[in-house]
Amino acid sequence: MSKYRIVLLGTKGGPAIRPGGPWPTSTLVELGGRTIVVDCGLGVTRGVTDAGLSLKALDLIFITHLHSDHVLELGALLHTAWTAGLATPVKVFGPAGLNRYWQGFVQALEFDIEIRIIDEGRPDLREMVEVVEFGEGEVLRDGDLSVTALRVDHPPVTECFALRFEHQGTAIVFSADTAFFPPLADFARGADILLHEAMLEEGVERLVARTGNGARLREHLMASHSLAGEAGTIAARAGVGRLVLNHLIPADDPEIGEADWVEAVRKTWNGTLTIGRDGLVVVVEGDDARNREDLHETGDAEERFA
Ligand SMILES: [Zn+2]
Ligand SMILES: [Zn+2]
Repeated sequence: MSKYRIVLLGTKGGPAIRPGGPWPTSTLVELGGRTIVVDCGLGVTRGVTDAGLSLKALDLIFITHLHSDHVLELGALLHTAWTAGLATPVKVFGPAGLNRYWQGFVQALEFDIEIRIIDEGRPDLREMVEVVEFGEGEVLRDGDLSVTALRVDHPPVTECFALRFEHQGTAIVFSADTAFFPPLADFARGADILLHEAMLEEGVERLVARTGNGARLREHLMASHSLAGEAGTIAARAGVGRLVLNHLIPADDPEIGEADWVEAVRKTWNGTLTIGRDGLVVVVEGDDARNREDLHETGDAEERFA
């Protein structure tokens, strides 16, 4: 098993933020010596630096789909890394349409990019970022690291992909945004960690009332996302080592706490469980794995900036 670290930078589902609440989706994965960011919702840049990482270390970025809670800050992350002295190329993988997003971003920032090239002697950001659009199947094979994608069920978005990262026998799987999708269990088979999105039905009603666009929002949520118990079912069928819930809906309802999520998942999943929150770190270091995971269970050193 290879050493890895996962930092949940943002764990709420949906793009809106509220005072004191959690942030939209982004996750940092350090695996096989690579620095990988999965999804770039608002707050990703702050999240990466709060995790103690130089933006210059950015290496690989994966976008599961083009909903704004997964891609809004991609351009700002890359641009900020560039102003922080990024000297090595970054590869960004995402679904069809990602290239258009990136071209639109650099066009919007054209004034700033060109003036910094002339005025500060910086390399051209547009030449440092390679955008790779992917579909289902193998996305990347680079040394011992491999990444594969599975199209999931997130209507009306058709280009939405679960991702499986593998390195020397370690596998980490992201469900992306999806309704209950049984093929995901095969895709996640035997993974060490499954990060699965989750929703609590009782919270959805209050969320819908608070947001103000009622029936349509409820309809979208129920058709395009998974209930916590369904995430547990996927984890159980896949036989994963640990289920981590993220992309929580609702994520900032004062009447819903960790115990409610645990109760909902325990109906379908008896294995190791982590309810995601911003800043939570899951660390595994070779033979020391058991020890470090226990630290997490006691809520100790791994929650450095929760
Ligand atoms: Zn989302
Ligand atoms: Zn989505």
